[in-house]
Parts: sequence; structure tokens; C-alpha cells
Amino acid sequence: MPATVLQNQQFRLAARPVGLPKPTDWQHVTEPVREIGDGEIIVKALYLSLDPAMRGWMNDSKSYIKPVGIGDVMRAGGVGVVVESKSPKFAVGDYVSGGIGVQAYWAGAADDKYGNFFKIDPRMAPLTTWLNTLGMPGMTGYFGLIEVGQPKAGETVVVSGAAGAVGQTVGQVARHLGCRVVGIAGGKDKCDFVVKELGFDACIDYKGGDVRAGLKEHCPNGVDVYFDNVGGEILDAVLSRINMKARIVICGAISQYNNTTPVKGPANYLSLLVHRARMEGMVVFDYAPRYPEGVAALAKWMKEGTFKSREDVVEGLEHFPDALLMLFEGKNFGKLVLKVADA
Ligand code: NAP
Repeated sequence: MPATVLQNQQFRLAARPVGLPKPTDWQHVTEPVREIGDGEIIVKALYLSLDPAMRGWMNDSKSYIKPVGIGDVMRAGGVGVVVESKSPKFAVGDYVSGGIGVQAYWAGAADDKYGNFFKIDPRMAPLTTWLNTLGMPGMTGYFGLIEVGQPKAGETVVVSGAAGAVGQTVGQVARHLGCRVVGIAGGKDKCDFVVKELGFDACIDYKGGDVRAGLKEHCPNGVDVYFDNVGGEILDAVLSRINMKARIVICGAISQYNNTTPVKGPANYLSLLVHRARMEGMVVFDYAPRYPEGVAALAKWMKEGTFKSREDVVEGLEHFPDALLMLFEGKNFGKLVLKVADA
């Protein structure tokens, strides 16, 4: 089928949001998919990854990656299927993962300078798992915990955003390493899930109770590793319970992403001095050359039945603006994924 008959739907960034993104910050466009030339492919989006980081990419500020330009298709990872190929690298029918963007079809060079797409095997795990445990969040949790957190068996690991994409991997990897694992999450259902389904030792419901009291109760020997996904007051609370030589992994600060006032830093940072502890930031892309190692380790545990991957799927590309907001309201239960089309 010639590419020109395919109709694309895209969400482009129309304005830089102040606070939470509004519908007017997006432009919803329908246009034909362009024809491709030699070395190019067309990928049909099946599932898109909705990530808290997308909020940061909408700001015109210096970060680890360029902001999305006004008028550009919103950046998003995704999994899809190759529907047209003029490249020897991919055949029609190949399942791929990469930077699709918030759109129904991606067209471009198969071998672009970023090596945008790589093949995935849907027999190894469902497609959505390739956006979660075997994808970017899984790699974040795996390498962030192991390389930056450096947990040892018997130590206490605390992770916030525990029922989310990164948090579920962090907690389960820590359990596999023989650590005591304590999650922090919003609501009883999420806390029950991480304890009963994922095998965490305990979980503190920060919406229903006092985090400091919860840490005192569930971390009787203090905190050796804190994997921080949320920042703000929860970070301060955990800093008050750290042990000597504790490691704080700064992975994200979702509580601060939609601030219209300056980011709230940790008031309690002198605890690092007292406990000769360290706080270190991590960006998952630094570990890209080692993703196969992370995928192999997590896939092995999944195959053995000792590791779970939970995704929360919203259907319909047109729901993108509202679905993205779920992340900042805690409405997603597991890795948030937008289903665009059937495989
Ligand atoms: P996620 O945890 O699946 O979803 C976001 C969750 O954050 C929500 O479900 C909600 O859970 C929690 N949340 C939202 N607002 C909050 C608030 N004000 N205070 C406390 N918790 C709040 O998202 P994810 O993809 O796994 O990302 C988690 C963190 O990792 C984010 O900060 C993200 O930016 C970061 N990250 C960093 C890297 C990196 O390379 N450094 C890579 C991927 C992700 P509750 O219902 O429990 O509140």
C-alpha cells in the first residue's frame, strides 16, 4: 500500500505550559503520511509511552535533552510495527521500539544518527512490557538502583512512586538482591499491590498517613538506599531516616514538575553531612549501551515468575492530553501506556 494513502494524526506542541498542560497547549493535526525514499521506513504506532519527563521536555530550559520545539510533534517513545520499508535493516511486519512521537505513524530514516528504532520480540513479552520493565522505565530502575544506589543484601531500600513504572522495577530488583524493600505510594490499593503482588516488605501510603511515622515503623534499622522519584516533602522525610553512608538516587521529582513557583529543594540536606551520605542524579540514557544486559536480567526473572510488570493502558491517540495528566494526579496504576492501534 503506498504511504501517501495513510492518514497520520499528530499532537504537536502549540504552547509552553504554565503549570499543568492545558488542551490549548496542543495542536491536533491530521495529514497524509509522506512518501518514503531509499533507506527509510514507516512505523505504525501501536502503543506510546506516557512519561512524567514529557512535562520537562515541554519547557524551554536547559536539560539532559533538547526541549520539544513549538509546532513540533510531541516527543514520545513507543512500540510499533514496520508497515513500509525501503531499508535492508527492517522488513515489513517487524516490531520495533523507539522514538515514535505522539502520532499514528512515524516516517524517516531507518538508520538515523540516533539509531532510533530497534527490533523487539513480542513472543518474549507483551508489547506493553517493552515500554515498561523491558523498556526505558525498567532500565531506569535497574541501572539506577544497581549502579547508583549500590544496594547490598540485608540493607533497607526505600522507593517512592512505588507502584509506578520505575518504582515497581526498583522494588522488585531490590527484593531479588536480598534487601528489605519499603515503598511509598498514594493510596491503599497501590500499597496493597506492591506488598501483596510485588513482594515489597511494606508500603507507606503518603496520602493516607504520615510518611515520617511510616518510615520509623517500617525502617527500624534506618534507610540505606532511597530511590527518589518524587522529590519535595517526601525526600525531606526520608533524609531524616538515613544511615551512615546512605545513597540517595535522584531519579525524578514529579511533585515539582508542574510548579509555577521555584522547585522546592531538600531543606534537610545537612543529614547528608551528618551521615556522610551522598545524593546522585541519574539519567537512563547513560546506560544505553548496557540495555541488553538489563533486559536479559529482568526478562529472566519474569520468565521464572518472580518479577511482575504492570501497565495501565488508555485507548485512543485522541485521549493523549487527558491521559498525560493522569501521571500528575496519581491516576495511573502501573506504567501508563496509550494504545494507538491494534497490532
Ligand atoms: P509513574 O510512577 O508510573 O507515574 C507517576 C506517579 O507519580 C503517579 O502515579 C503518582 O503515584 C506519583 N505522583 C504524582 N504526583 C505526585 C506528587 N505530587 N507527590 C508524590 N507522588 C506523585 O512514573 P514513572 O515513569 O515511573 O516515573 C517516575 C519518576 O521517575 C518520575 O519522576 C520520572 O520523571 C522519573 N524518571 C527518570 C528517569 C531518568 O532517567 N532519570 C527515567 C524515567 C523516569 P502515586 O499515586 O503513588 O502518588
